[in-house]
Amino acid sequence: MQFPQKHSATGTTIFTVMSALAQQYDAINLSQGFPDFPIDEGLAKLLYDAAKGNYNQYSPMPGLPMLRQAISKNFKRRYGLDVDSDAEITVTPGATYAIYAAFTAVLQAGDEVIVLEPAYDSYIPNIEMNGAKAVPVPLSAPDYSVDWRKVEQAITPKTKAIIVNTPHNPTGAIWQKDDWDALADLVRDTDIVIVSDEVYEQLVFDGEQHYSVLQHEELRARSFAIYSFGKVFNNTGWKIGYCIAPPEFTRAFRQVHQFMAFAVNTPAQYALAQHLGNEANAPVHIMMQQKRDYFLELIRQTPFTIHEAALGSYFQVASYERISDMPDMEFAQWLTKEYGVATIPVSAFYKDKKDDKIIRFCFAKKEETIKSAIERLSGLRAL
Ligand code: PMP
Ligand code: GLN
Repeated sequence: MQFPQKHSATGTTIFTVMSALAQQYDAINLSQGFPDFPIDEGLAKLLYDAAKGNYNQYSPMPGLPMLRQAISKNFKRRYGLDVDSDAEITVTPGATYAIYAAFTAVLQAGDEVIVLEPAYDSYIPNIEMNGAKAVPVPLSAPDYSVDWRKVEQAITPKTKAIIVNTPHNPTGAIWQKDDWDALADLVRDTDIVIVSDEVYEQLVFDGEQHYSVLQHEELRARSFAIYSFGKVFNNTGWKIGYCIAPPEFTRAFRQVHQFMAFAVNTPAQYALAQHLGNEANAPVHIMMQQKRDYFLELIRQTPFTIHEAALGSYFQVASYERISDMPDMEFAQWLTKEYGVATIPVSAFYKDKKDDKIIRFCFAKKEETIKSAIERLSGLRAL
């Protein structure tokens, strides 16, 4: 049987590859991004209550009304923003799906989409699966800021969308308000749509704040903003996210969604709705900043080089320039096999597999996990 090639990323995703390797070599898994500690007990109990109660059948296609209302209230409380729970919010089976659905709603064969690299690995295949072309624009090392001149040069009459991501996976960089203003200047007088991946919006450190595309009135009118509960409540395996977009955009999004998933796991939506409304929840960024600080303190005692501390997300990139000159994929595999610590080679986030000798660590882990991982790395020596 010949299957058509739907996109250019022919191999298996790096997250599957590295997590499998970690298991095979009994390595500590700091590769794929997921917390290794339990979720809030109250949230777990709510899921049980939902299943015991009567929350086991299909929810309405856009999502349980009580969850959409809770999301709307939460955006009012945290950002002072008005979001219409009926016309602007759609609950999805995760953010990856929501990004794909947003692209599918807007793209036609031959369109171009600008992608700032390094970029989360689903973006380019998702663009290509819709018959469109990804146009990569590199971020500037070492702080991974956006070079707006390069973005401007990449825009053509075929540019249909730009996908942006703040806080950024894999680099931990965050956007300031100026970045949104620069983007608005470039897309004004065009029909370019923004897909804004903000899954790490609640993981911002050092007193910085997350600027959402929704806070930029001009850009909000042309944007899909994408979120994931997995990163807020440490339950990535629940795979529930949502998309906030203007009513016209939401209608187009739901045209796709109604025939891809139709609806999302009902008991989990119930539990999230109840939990989201609970203002006693501890903000996740405080705990995650402690983990970042602990990780940084320990990794700095090894020959890895940290050029910039992550300001957001739950990832820290590090250069191994003082340890080895192996290609990053080879280095990450060697580190897993020889030192028992799995990481992600950052070349996986580039279409052309650009290798800057940088790997990504996930620090959303118990202190003891971080400590054991760095103990294992303590035998590494500078060249
Ligand atoms: N975008 C980014 C930048 C991510 O790191 C992730 C990782 N999980 C996602 C989207 C996908 O989120 P979800 O698990 O909700 O599909
Ligand atoms: N977002 C997570 C990461 O970047 C995992 C995503 C996945 O496994 N597909 O590691």
